Amino acid sequence: MRKVRKTWVPSLWASWKPFGLGEAHPNAYSEIGRAARENRDQLSYAWRILNHGVCDGCALGTKGIRDWTIEGVHLCAVRLRLLRLNTQPAFDPGILDDVDALKSKTSAQLRELGRLPCPFIRRKGEKGFKRASWDEALETIAGRIGSTEPARTGYYLTSRGIGNETYYAAQKAVRAMGTNSVDNAARVCHSPSTIALKQTVGAAATTCSYKDWIGTDLIVFIGSNVANNQPVAMKYLYYAKKAGTQVAVVNTYREPGMDRYWVPSNLESALFGTRITDRFFLVHTGGDIPFFDGVLKHMIERGLIDRAFIEQHTVGFPALEAELARRSWSELEHLSGSSRGEMEALGEMIGGAKKAVFVWSMGVTQHAFGEDNVRAIVNLALTRGFVGREGCGLMPIRGHSGVQGGAEMGAYASVFPGGVPVGPQAARDLSRLWGFEVPSEPGLTAPAMIDAAHQGKLEVLFSVGGNFLEVLPEPAYVQKALEGIRLRVHMDIVLSSQMLVDGETVVLLPATTRYEVRGGITETTTERRVVFSPEIPGPRVAEARPEWEVLLDLAKRVRPALAGLLHFENTAAIRAEIARAVPFYGGIQDLAKEGDQFQYGGAHLCADWKFPTADGKAHFSTVSLPNADLPAGAFWMSTRRGKQFNSMVQEPSDALTGAERESVLMSGEDADRLELKPGDKVLLRSDLGSMECRVQIAPIRPGNLQTHWPESGALIDRQRRSPQSGIPDYNAVVRVEKLP
Ligand code: SF4
Repeated sequence: MRKVRKTWVPSLWASWKPFGLGEAHPNAYSEIGRAARENRDQLSYAWRILNHGVCDGCALGTKGIRDWTIEGVHLCAVRLRLLRLNTQPAFDPGILDDVDALKSKTSAQLRELGRLPCPFIRRKGEKGFKRASWDEALETIAGRIGSTEPARTGYYLTSRGIGNETYYAAQKAVRAMGTNSVDNAARVCHSPSTIALKQTVGAAATTCSYKDWIGTDLIVFIGSNVANNQPVAMKYLYYAKKAGTQVAVVNTYREPGMDRYWVPSNLESALFGTRITDRFFLVHTGGDIPFFDGVLKHMIERGLIDRAFIEQHTVGFPALEAELARRSWSELEHLSGSSRGEMEALGEMIGGAKKAVFVWSMGVTQHAFGEDNVRAIVNLALTRGFVGREGCGLMPIRGHSGVQGGAEMGAYASVFPGGVPVGPQAARDLSRLWGFEVPSEPGLTAPAMIDAAHQGKLEVLFSVGGNFLEVLPEPAYVQKALEGIRLRVHMDIVLSSQMLVDGETVVLLPATTRYEVRGGITETTTERRVVFSPEIPGPRVAEARPEWEVLLDLAKRVRPALAGLLHFENTAAIRAEIARAVPFYGGIQDLAKEGDQFQYGGAHLCADWKFPTADGKAHFSTVSLPNADLPAGAFWMSTRRGKQFNSMVQEPSDALTGAERESVLMSGEDADRLELKPGDKVLLRSDLGSMECRVQIAPIRPGNLQTHWPESGALIDRQRRSPQSGIPDYNAVVRVEKLP
């Protein structure tokens, strides 16, 4: 690996203006000031959380404000913005007397009201929620679940801050209640990645470590904006740049944060910024497969692939090679929105690298062909053996702290703990371990739960965190579905808009934060590091309870005969069982104090090119080209987050792009053609809905637009989902009309 240069490197500087004065970038120092103001009533507790807890933001992972990749401080604005969720006091229960009065509030305003203080119940026709005891609330829920066919119940867990112990205990409780309909936020995030990686290289997780970024020859980011979503990753990239690593970005939009970034905790970068990306490759939304086909076609033609590796360690390449020979450059150019020259340029960068890491996110997975998008990336990496060795890897980078462990703990409709597909034999194995019968049919995924509710086939929904109203496409459809569910239970730390949707019976349960869980919890980071986060002493919401405990308590009430089999004394006991149920998590049972951690599988999966597939080889895939003909005059629209964390909007404008929430990013070329100026009002119309936006000119591939999500959820077709994992396609074909 190349070494990081210790001296300052002016050729990497983004600007000679100190601190990037006048440039568009987030101001970390004002974020610190803001966090101090917001948490002034609990400053010492906030500091203890930062200093001793594992960050509840993204899945980069921390130990306090340090990590395992670099020296120095690891802290970002996302974490600072989340702090108040953990320190704020409970709200006055009287607030919930009148639900209609709350319906006009935004999600951010609802969060700011404070923590949920106690259980509440609201029955049909009642104006508001009434306080309830835990016993009354759980008896109400258990009574309904007990009298409902298990197939008509569904359970969902978000990824915000939730630990492995909660996912594990929750899915065990749900399966004890007779259904596999338990899903978590990993579904709408990287389920296509886990499916495609498992099939191609036999490992369903990131194969390398963050350290592999620093000093490798090349990092390729595809549909990923770590500047916004995993901000400290930019510090890793600063060091990577100083070690001579090249960075290529394949995306629809030339993300300003990926172009240049000011790392606040590094003096050189804080002062002068750092130029991060060496070359952007702009493609159409959904144009990745034809683009990568062209890159690979060029590499084959130029002899830039490693035939010895391919012959010894892979299968499927001859079929792919033959198929690529048949695909014409003009077809690949048309479908990708790029040019042969661009494809050749990336092919030369990859072909010239001895080591490379491929990083991707929701821009790749959230498509109707999400699994194939991932397979196309794996194809590229396999051509030169860029997996299983230092400086190389496949990295589906995770956006949320809980999400890697969620699926691995089996909180998934389609897999049991350890990622074992749901089926008769696997159910028998699990039944032996747990001592009760485990259902063997896959359950409902999160989008399928909403469909079932719409059809009157879901009578109970238990949602731990999350907000389907803002996360799933077509909010009006989701609202109608939620209204039709006989019993909805929302367990969370704060209020959300889906709690206010009317229904026959709605129960709210107050949850603890991850820092309040007795015995601590663990989370699994993107690089497969299982990290212990201790309980942090501080103020408590007296009636809040950990989700793991509540779901098991509920299952015991529904199935009293199983009570003895559903008991865990504490989170340490859950960790001990995880170690037995999920062999690759062996070692989790020893995590007990701050700083304890291990990286399952070691620094590199598929090390020494030993692939854990049935035949021990990596598998190339011949991937179909997506059907991507755009009607004349229409645009591809993709969705972006901006200054937010998951669906939690944290800021009305994005300091990285300058965009407001109602902005539509449009190329100057398209704006000129439509005679639009910056700030003009336009109506975006898809087959399903419309949305008013303001034009913002941006460096985006002509023919493509970007809007913020969840605001543009009404334009998205809920029925377009990836074939294997059922992840919604958060893109749409839209037309643009100028408004007066
Ligand atoms: S980059 Fe991610 S893990 Fe690190 S502090 Fe920010 S939100 Fe937390």
